[in-house]
Parts: sequence; C-alpha cells; structure tokens
Amino acid sequence: MDDSRRIDTLAVHAGAMTAPCNAPVSPPLYQASAYVFEDLDDVEAIYGGTKPGKIYWRYGGPNGEAFARAVAELEGAEDGVGAASGMAAICAAFFTNLKAGDHAVVTRDVYGGTHAIVTKDFPGRGIESTFVDACDPQALRAAISPGRTKVVYLEALTNPLMRIPALEQAVSLAHEAGALVVVDATFASPALFHALDHGADLVVHSVTKYLGGHGDVGAGVLVGSRVLIDAARTYLVRTGATIPHFEAWLAHRGLRTLALRMERHSRNAEAAAAFLAGAAPAVTRVHHPSLPSHPQHEAAARLFPRGCGGMLSFELSDGRAAVDAFIKGLRMIEVVHSLGEVGTTVSYSVASSHRGIPAAERDALGVTESLLRLSCGIECSDDIIDDLRRGLAAVQERG
Ligand code: PLP
Repeated sequence: MDDSRRIDTLAVHAGAMTAPCNAPVSPPLYQASAYVFEDLDDVEAIYGGTKPGKIYWRYGGPNGEAFARAVAELEGAEDGVGAASGMAAICAAFFTNLKAGDHAVVTRDVYGGTHAIVTKDFPGRGIESTFVDACDPQALRAAISPGRTKVVYLEALTNPLMRIPALEQAVSLAHEAGALVVVDATFASPALFHALDHGADLVVHSVTKYLGGHGDVGAGVLVGSRVLIDAARTYLVRTGATIPHFEAWLAHRGLRTLALRMERHSRNAEAAAAFLAGAAPAVTRVHHPSLPSHPQHEAAARLFPRGCGGMLSFELSDGRAAVDAFIKGLRMIEVVHSLGEVGTTVSYSVASSHRGIPAAERDALGVTESLLRLSCGIECSDDIIDDLRRGLAAVQERG
C-alpha cells in the first residue's frame, strides 16, 4: 500500500472541477450543497450581490435558476422561481401576499391541496376567504371586497371538470379592488396558455405534472413581476422550500419537449372525449372543453386555440361499482393519483384529489362517485381508445 497517496484526503479533493470546458449542449447538473469562496472579499462581494456567485443550495443553485428563467420566458414573465413542490409555490403566492385581516377569493373547484391550505391554514393566520364559482363574473363581483380582498386565486382549467374561469373579468374586478390575481396553470402549461397575457399577476405550476412530464419529478414554479418573485423567493428560502438541483435539472429537460407533448396530449384528449361522448348509456357525461356540451366550449376555442391539454373527466352510469369494474377492465391505462405524464392514467377524484373535501361539498361541485378523471398520455390515440373500450366492456359484463 502506497501511503504517500493519502487516500483519505485524496478521496475528498481528487478531480475537483475548477473551470468549465466549452459550453455543453444541454444544461449540466450542478449537484452541490454549497459553493467555494476565494477569500473574504469574495464572500462580501457574493453576499452583497456585487459579484455573481452562489452560496448555499437553499439560496438557489444554477439548475433551479436556469429552469425558473426558462419557465418565465415561456410565460412571458419578468422573473420566476422554482419551489420544492407545487404546494410550496402556492404557499409562497398566498403567504407573501396575504396577512392577518386580509381576504382571499378562491375558485370553489380548486385542487384539494390548495383547498386544505385555504380551509385549514388561513384561519389560524387570521386570513379570511370566500369560495366562488370563478366562471360566473357576477359571483366574482359579489365575492371581491375592495380594499380587503388581496388575492383572487383561480385555476386556468379546473380539476377535474375542466372548467375555464372568467379570467379577464376577474382581473379587472380584482385590480379595481386592489387585489392580485394568482392563476394555477398546471393543467394548461405555458405551451397552451399564458395567464399573464390576460392580466394575471402570478402564475404557479405543479412542475410534477406537465412541465416535468415524465412522472419522475416533484417540484413547483412561480412566475410574475420581479417584485412579487423576489418576495416569493425569500419566503421559499426561509421555509426551506427551494427546488432541489436534480429536480430542476429533470424538469428543465422535460420542458424542452413540452410543446410537442402538449400538442399530442391535447389531440389524444379530444379523441378520447369524442369516443366517450358516443358511449352512452354506459357513459352519462363527459367533461372536456372540446365538446359542444361543455359550458365553456366557446371560451376554450378563444382562449386555448392550441388545445386544452390531456385532461378530461367522465361519469359512468352506475357509481362506484361501475368505476371499479371499468378500472379492472383496463390493460394499458394505469390508476395513478397524479397527471400529465407521457403514459395515460386514470384517477378516481373522490378517493384522491378531493378525498379531504366533505361529500356534500364535493357533490355540489359535481365531483361524484361516478366520476373518473383521465390524463391522456402521448401514446397512439387508437390504443387509448381501445383500452377505454375494454374498460366499458367490463362495466357492461358486470351488469
Ligand atoms: N395544483 C394542481 C392543479 C394540482 O393538480 C396539484 C397536484 O396534484 C398541485 C397544484 C400540487 O402540486 P404538487 O403535488 O407538486 O405539490
């Protein structure tokens, strides 16, 4: 054994990367928890912001920043910041813009996790809220209280009924009242919809879904003006909800194929919706904006000219038992309580996203025991439809 090599020290320092080579074709992963300073002047300059540099992973790393910049560019935003999850991004949007005594107006069919923040975390902080049918401008007008309402929170396409809020009216009512408009655009992605172009102030995404796109990322992102994003960034750093480097790297890689994927997701959902709409009496209702029966069919054509993404939901004629038979009849489509992946998946909203919402409230929203949510992937649409046909055949065999 050659002791002159001092393996213990060498193992720590060997192969240290000092200077980068010429620019790589894709973003490299900077998987480091902290960064090296040259001397104390360097420490002061980097902390003081007079020299670019990184300090510690939680304050932000190259991958998270590159990813957030990319989403900001796609959304047409001044700035963006990554977050550890979609919920972390949503909390940053809420808690940097709402304090005790403030009021928020929230779309009533909001994602279950966001519903829990509003109903469970707002009261303890002295924040009041009103749930509203955000597709109804009159209801929005009645709910927004000038001077008191500070945030109007909408979803670009709602889960799971794919409803489209009256965004432009919400923006003008909110701004008149001195409130910000925050839009969760997870279901749409920046490939299909730009809420900031319609006057929204902040856009949040669960990156876990379409932006990552491959079922291997858990992250969030938030874009908007520099001032709003600076506040969100400070909140995320303080609460330890920074996007981790590897998640940001994966999400950035996913982003590069977003436009292609969203186009295919959209076409497949339109094909699946048309098939299911013709599958009466086993299927009693289909919720997708491409169908003339959808309440916002015309708004969708105007606001989502490139399609509405891969999500749709449908109701079976015989409640939970039919849903169970349908799921057992599927061969390709898997039961997954997430969405936006390359593979087609199905989920049962009353047992997943809306599990924590009281049954009466769920029923009033139209999220019933008969409802199944489909996330259409990027497979050949014929294969998706064949599997849906197998599911429906299993329902029929049962009874
Ligand atoms: N917003 C919507 C519309 C969602 O569907 C979800 C999760 O399903 C979230 C936000 C929360 O995202 P995450 O699970 O990444 O925290």
